Amino acid sequence: MNIHEYQGKELLRQYGVAVPNGKVAFSADEAEQAAKELGGDVNVVKAQIHAGGRGKAGGVKVAKSLEDVRTYADEILGKQLVTHQTGPEGKEVKRLLVEEGCDIQSEYYIGLVLDRESSRIVLMGSEEGGTEIEQVAEETPEKIFKEFIDPAVGLQGYQARRLAFNINIPPELLGQAVKFMSGLYNAFVDKDCSVAEINPLVTTGDGAVQALDAKLNFDANALYRQKDVMEFRDLDEEDPKEIEASKHDLSYIALDGNIGCMVNGAGLAMATMDTIKHFNGEPANFLDVGGGASAEKVTEAFKIILADETVKGIFVNIFGGIMKCDVIAEGVVTATREVGLELPLVVRLEGTNVERGKEILEESGLNIAAADTMADGAQKIVELVK
Ligand code: ADP
Ligand code: MG
Repeated sequence: MNIHEYQGKELLRQYGVAVPNGKVAFSADEAEQAAKELGGDVNVVKAQIHAGGRGKAGGVKVAKSLEDVRTYADEILGKQLVTHQTGPEGKEVKRLLVEEGCDIQSEYYIGLVLDRESSRIVLMGSEEGGTEIEQVAEETPEKIFKEFIDPAVGLQGYQARRLAFNINIPPELLGQAVKFMSGLYNAFVDKDCSVAEINPLVTTGDGAVQALDAKLNFDANALYRQKDVMEFRDLDEEDPKEIEASKHDLSYIALDGNIGCMVNGAGLAMATMDTIKHFNGEPANFLDVGGGASAEKVTEAFKIILADETVKGIFVNIFGGIMKCDVIAEGVVTATREVGLELPLVVRLEGTNVERGKEILEESGLNIAAADTMADGAQKIVELVK
């Protein structure tokens, strides 16, 4: 789960990570009021959306007066901001962060992420702050430094110092940088983050180390124990289909293709998407209906897939283990009737009572193409959506 920059900064402040003073605003009036309360000469008006690249897209403006703050707030609020992370349709800006202007000396990059190879949290840093870290990794990988953190002892002072030294933070600010990194690490672990990215971390004219941006991502499986993080959830930022799916306990992620996938089990869902890709098709979604999918769940899943207008065909790939194939077939037939499905539908069933399942599909008289194997099913649906 993602949260907004201002929320991330609020959370980081609790861990002793230095961030500029700022206030959230939902209107130009509130923005002006916020700037007044902040009291400084220069304020920055920042679009709050769950995507980066706002600066380049005109979503971050430096205001030198209260009038400026109002003008920029008017300009940015309600705007469909298109950044390289939003996709071409962009995201509507509904909130702003009004923040005190910072006298930037240098910009750096600091990030924490779980490294799957070493099974450890890795702290990454670079002196190429402000730019995309992916670009730095591509062009000048030698400018990215890493520290792998032993979970038993946490981030050690010497590691933070070494990283700060490697990315050329001025020696007199090493102490502040170390405090910054350990605060960030503690927040990451305490709050079950999956990503924490500070880009840029800055040194300022008056000798401070601060986070000018904050991107925090949380492990959705841990949210049950992170009540205060859940409060930060902004449904406006999420795909309505994904929200609907979560209500029915379905794991659904929308993708760009045109083949809707309904599968049980995350591993099988991934394999199904790979197989579709292998035959030059494009999946429209990842969807795991779970091990104990009932007819109701299957129906809901169909509705969610069909709510996506780009879907041109559906591939149902189910392994009947806990769930029996005949029950699934009944579910598919009921759902197909209920939603009045007109798109091509390919169903591949395997497992317990598979013969009975196939009979049910045949007897239904519906236009359902049965597939014997996963490859067969993928090929059929790719052909049908052409
Ligand atoms: P994004 O990554 O979405 O473009 P950032 O928060 O990183 O947004 O802001 C983009 C750039 O705007 C930063 O690299 C920094 O140069 C500038 N900036 C952001 N916040 C401030 C601030 N409070 N004071 C001065 N400059 C800022
Ligand atoms: Mg940034």
